Amino acid sequence: METIRKLIRKQSLEKLYNNLAANRKVYAPVIAADKKAEYKYNPGFADVTFDHIRSTLSVKNIVFPKVENLFFYENSKTESTITDIDLDKIPEVVLWGAHPCDNAAFDTLRSIFCWDTKDEFFSRRLEKLTVIGLGCHSSDEYCFCTSVGLSPSSSRGSDILLTKLQTGDYQAEILTAKGNEIVSSFPDLFEPLTDEKVDITEVKQKFSHKQVTEKLAGAFEHEFWIANSLRCIGCGACAYVCPTCACFDIQDETKGKNGKRYRSWDSCGFGLFTLHTSGHNPRHVQSQRWRQRIMHKFSYMPDRNESLGCVGCGRCSSGCPVDMNIAEQLEALQNI
Ligand code: SF4
Ligand code: SF4
Repeated sequence: METIRKLIRKQSLEKLYNNLAANRKVYAPVIAADKKAEYKYNPGFADVTFDHIRSTLSVKNIVFPKVENLFFYENSKTESTITDIDLDKIPEVVLWGAHPCDNAAFDTLRSIFCWDTKDEFFSRRLEKLTVIGLGCHSSDEYCFCTSVGLSPSSSRGSDILLTKLQTGDYQAEILTAKGNEIVSSFPDLFEPLTDEKVDITEVKQKFSHKQVTEKLAGAFEHEFWIANSLRCIGCGACAYVCPTCACFDIQDETKGKNGKRYRSWDSCGFGLFTLHTSGHNPRHVQSQRWRQRIMHKFSYMPDRNESLGCVGCGRCSSGCPVDMNIAEQLEALQNI
């Protein structure tokens, strides 16, 4: 639908938030005891922050939970009885105040989970999600959204995008039918937009993702991978904090006759990730795993999913215990 722009006064945000929280789960950012931002379900509006740059963990767990039950089973001597998960019980969720990089990541995840076969668990969660995004009025040295085709004011993935105006009120861009439904439900909270001077940060472009993708086509055996992964300890933190990483493991947990099958986040940075039962491991050193991470996001995904596997949030770099900086590496890769 055509984007409609309206004004919402600063003091009306609380009313909107509380009205939404009355019949939906609202997932919003707060500042935790360690002074870092984290997203929580249904915090009081007074605790919600509008000033965070990034949370430690992304918001992907709304549509791709850390651990998700797939079905339950009961075994007898001769057969197993399966009980499916009732996906109709997935609640309506509003994601409030997430930044453009995180919201764009829902599209990236869709391109993975619905690439050939539609993943019902993911799709149903995404259907129940409404995103009220927040343009960024601050950034730091780890942000690189502008290098991957996004910006601090990108609307991709948002149903409504709020952007702070220099007056302190907010511009509301209504982008989808879901967003329009919310605005139509609370017409008194939205006014015609007259002043369009927005308070938005600048993020310097560090590299061209198109050049990186072109370079990767001939870089599989390049010495770059060994030289640039020597300090990676394979902890997997980069994948766990990433809004677009979608690898998972599937396990069964059985107690007596009963059990469940579940999936849980995994990482291609782990040595065990590709270990075969035979003991052979096709990616037996860390440099091959680091290469896989970059290749997947910047070469295989553009080719297969028509989407980059990175939204430039900078979490993997700010969270890495040994200071592996993905933007610096991509900048260097562009010039090999
Ligand atoms: S967070 Fe850093 S050390 Fe850990 S796997 Fe990722 S790049 Fe390697
Ligand atoms: S690879 Fe790093 S910078 Fe890119 S989306 Fe994932 S966590 Fe963010």
